[in-house]
Amino acid sequence: MNWQEVLSENGYRVSEPRRLVMQLLENSSQPLTPLQIYSALLQSGNTLGMVSVYRALELLTELCLVCLVYNSDGSPGYVLGMGGHHHHILCQSCHKAASFAGSEDLSALIEKVEADTNYRVKDHLLQLYGICPACQEKQSVRQEGN
Ligand SMILES: [Zn+2]
Ligand SMILES: [Zn+2]
Repeated sequence: MNWQEVLSENGYRVSEPRRLVMQLLENSSQPLTPLQIYSALLQSGNTLGMVSVYRALELLTELCLVCLVYNSDGSPGYVLGMGGHHHHILCQSCHKAASFAGSEDLSALIEKVEADTNYRVKDHLLQLYGICPACQEKQSVRQEGN
């Protein structure tokens, strides 16, 4: 199911703001902040208000079509979502985002946290940082040059 179908299946129109935001995120491998989305749309000649950008992002996040992630400096950004339970990994060097399927491999940790805190764990937010293949390549080329 593509994102247009997800929207209409949930009773939403493929409005101009939603289409523009989705298109932009589809073409970006790095997370974009609402301000970056707003500026990029403005540069390509679309006069979409900041409020429309926020509203579109809010709905698209709710429908899991986009995901909120955090850059290694803590700044939030949006990337395309992937169906089902999944997590994101971000490159610390170029900020490129990738996603991976979430599995139940956190269950040992969750059990320990529940035992330690007496909380019942209901949900989690997991995101990893690392160095992407392209940046690893760049780094090894640099090292060989020394
Ligand atoms: Zn990278
Ligand atoms: Zn998970």
